[in-house]
Amino acid sequence: AKHQGKSSYAHFTPELSEISHERLQMESRMRRALELQEFELYFQPIVDTATGKLRAAEALLRWNNPVMGLVMPDRFIPLAEETGLIVPIGEWVLEQACLAATGWKAITGQDIGISVNVSPRQFRDPGFTKAVMRALSNNELAPKRLELEITERLLLDNSIETAEILREMDSAGIRLSVDDFGTGYSALSYLKSYPFDTLKIDKSFVQDVMKESEDATLVRAIINMAHSLGLTVVAEGVEDEQQTHFLQQEGCDFAQGYFYSRPLPAGEFTEWLRTNHR
Ligand code: C2E
Ligand code: CA
Ligand code: CA
Ligand code: CA
Repeated sequence: AKHQGKSSYAHFTPELSEISHERLQMESRMRRALELQEFELYFQPIVDTATGKLRAAEALLRWNNPVMGLVMPDRFIPLAEETGLIVPIGEWVLEQACLAATGWKAITGQDIGISVNVSPRQFRDPGFTKAVMRALSNNELAPKRLELEITERLLLDNSIETAEILREMDSAGIRLSVDDFGTGYSALSYLKSYPFDTLKIDKSFVQDVMKESEDATLVRAIINMAHSLGLTVVAEGVEDEQQTHFLQQEGCDFAQGYFYSRPLPAGEFTEWLRTNHR
């Protein structure tokens, strides 16, 4: 038995160290990624379901690493959160997102908004409020054009600080949205106690509205509830025309998804603006 224990130990060690080695390697690459300018923002349109007009774009982070290639956020944001690197990366995102939105005004003459994802670690950083205000003033962007997307996860702690920061952002005129709504196992009471403007219905509900009647019922109920609370609704992950029709019928205000456009690099997004919104 002793012998067997030893051999299974020997069997597991290389795998474990391989994982942690990979992690360490990724972490050290991530530490250099900002100065090597390997991060890039993609932009995805958020469109008025009734008129098809553009309301805003969501900034989605990509990491172009020479060794790993194009790395998607689900692969590196968790590690960036754990290591705290999300703080400087998040500041870069805010800065670049505001800069981009300022440029769109010159092209379209319209006040197109920019939505930025904020992770809990970044939100709780003492420098967060200042970083947001700095990004706005550096780029002369009106606060109402910036929307911060926050997941329900952040609200689970019920802390006074969280409430205060949200109120501060709201008083400054910045918009606030609940991202991935319906996935956070959170009580709904926060919707009336925090100053949110927008509710984003998670794509997992939207994707099956034509297949599962329960999902259609849920989406309808979420839209009605949000509207009664005075919130604007965005449906995520809209991939086809039938889903669009459903959302129009149910009075969903805005939609976002591959049906309208995939997330696009800055140059392509500008092209999209030129052809779709002159
Ligand atoms: P999210 O905030 O829920 O963003 C929407 C995700 O859905 C994006 O994935 C987008 O590319 C994808 N998507 C858009 N339309 C469709 C569609 O029609 N069908 C499907 N199947 N997917 C669609 P992405 O870009 O891989 O981002 C994943 C997550 O990473 C985001 O989810 C967000 O939580 C996080 N993230 C992205 N950028 C940032 C960032 O700058 N900061 C932070 N903290 N998190 C970010
Ligand atoms: Ca989001
Ligand atoms: Ca508000
Ligand atoms: Ca989502």
